[in-house]
Amino acid sequence: MNLDKLKTIDEIDVSGKRVLVRADLNVPIKDGRVTDATRLERVLPGVKALADRGAKVIVISHFGRPKNGPEAELSLKPIAEAMQHLLGRPVAFGSDSIGADADKTVGSLKNGDVALLENLRFHKGEEKNDPKFAEELAKLGDIFVGDAFSCAHRAHASTEGLTHFLPSFAGPLLMEEINALRTALEKPLRPTAAVVGGAKVSTKIPVLTNLVAKVDKLIIGGGMANTFLQATGVMVGNSLAEPEFDATARDIMTEAKRKGCEIILPVDAVIAREFKEGAASEVVAVDNVPFDAMILDVGPKSVTRVTSVLESCKTLLWNGPLGAFEISPFGEGTFALARAAANLTKAGKLVSVAGGGDTVAALNAAGVTEDFTYVSTAGGAFLEWLEGRELPGVMALAREKAN
Ligand code: AMP
Repeated sequence: MNLDKLKTIDEIDVSGKRVLVRADLNVPIKDGRVTDATRLERVLPGVKALADRGAKVIVISHFGRPKNGPEAELSLKPIAEAMQHLLGRPVAFGSDSIGADADKTVGSLKNGDVALLENLRFHKGEEKNDPKFAEELAKLGDIFVGDAFSCAHRAHASTEGLTHFLPSFAGPLLMEEINALRTALEKPLRPTAAVVGGAKVSTKIPVLTNLVAKVDKLIIGGGMANTFLQATGVMVGNSLAEPEFDATARDIMTEAKRKGCEIILPVDAVIAREFKEGAASEVVAVDNVPFDAMILDVGPKSVTRVTSVLESCKTLLWNGPLGAFEISPFGEGTFALARAAANLTKAGKLVSVAGGGDTVAALNAAGVTEDFTYVSTAGGAFLEWLEGRELPGVMALAREKAN
């Protein structure tokens, strides 16, 4: 995928044009109100800029996973109200994403106006990437802007299909995500480190395989470190581990050696006999875990070791917590590393890029999100990028075509 071919929406005149913007408006809603507007706050400056440039902006998005057509609780209507509030201008709401009602809503827009259309997934054609549905959507706009990086790993009508019918451009938020990820993974300042944590090796094999070929230091934490430790002959007691992936872990370590990537595993651990808030815990060396205890976090010596690795690196890519961070006191390793990375970033010594739902939650809990160079809220798309996969919603925008 030649990402240098991505055309951004800044490059063309949008005045008087109907611009269809695919955003990701999957924000948490409770009792009809948006409870966390972070995603909206990130995408709305791009919407506002288009409106200020005289475009008629039509925002489209999915919301949740409707099973069989429209569902009242999965309507985007409350989000139109939140958008209106945050934008400080009216947002027209179309109660369908295609057809007569969508036409009427779009037809009523004047230059500089903004509309939001109803949940795309109320139509089966969206997730099936049905060309007929994409064509119906395309009738509503003159230009398409893909600005939902977090949905770009799916080839749906609104992420991929539309690009076959309209001149298509990358939106500012999508560009921001791609530039951050390229800075960390494709053209990083070296040496580079990656932290991969989380529950299981089995869910992140392609990520680990891709990263050993790209980074200089791979720090493994979380439950998946247990499988790696076990693969080197360490007894991990009652810890979460996947013995059936011992061989995979050994293959990854062999490949890392061949590629000149150093794998760093925990040297000590916080263990407990119960997986619950406030459980009695102690710190032991990783080769000293009793048979009935579980490793639930990395220990202080591991944090010191990993911090010194980060001090020797210029770029950090992070996905996955080092321990069961949601349950006190097993978040300390993750939080300590988050603070260390944030401090190095603030001192201008490290470019730090992190992503994935749990990682974002852990950085928020540590209060350091703002100090990282970039924190991606994209879950699946972020992981697929780390796997080195081409994302259909990005490829479609980078495709050579007569725009
Ligand atoms: P993932 O979705 O693969 O990134 O996994 C994140 C989850 O891994 C979090 O919910 C953590 O609580 C969990 N986790 C991390 N370390 C451990 C561990 N040592 N034992 C059990 N669960 C863990």
